[in-house]
Amino acid sequence: MSYDTNNVFAKILRKEIPSHFIYEDEYVVSFYDIHPKAPTHVLVVPKKAYIDFNDFMLNADKDEVFHVLTDVQKVAQQLDVVKAGYRVVLNVGSGAGQEVPHLHFHILSNKEA
Ligand code: AMP
Repeated sequence: MSYDTNNVFAKILRKEIPSHFIYEDEYVVSFYDIHPKAPTHVLVVPKKAYIDFNDFMLNADKDEVFHVLTDVQKVAQQLDVVKAGYRVVLNVGSGAGQEVPHLHFHILSNKEA
């Protein structure tokens, strides 16, 4: 399967669809999920075009894996949900419920950010 450049997160990254980034650096952008499934539901989306976690782990270099994972924790900290607890969800493949074919991490917490 090749990367679909027309997926919604690719469009957000190209600024073709407006979005409010709560965090951005060289590696990721982060924004609130449009259909929240918890009081806090944020997405962390790597800037590079990876379809899913398999694609990322097989093709990203160690540095990028480290920085992206570090950013997921950094965003959780920024949201102030570390003490309350949070889940990091990665749906991998349509069979597991991945709707958008661009790698993204869900951060979910029962504490409102
Ligand atoms: P997944 O099912 O893991 O692919 O998750 C995709 C997530 O993206 C869902 O939770 C959607 O609610 C969310 N989503 C889709 N379009 C947007 C958008 N334009 N802005 C923010 N979140 C979105």
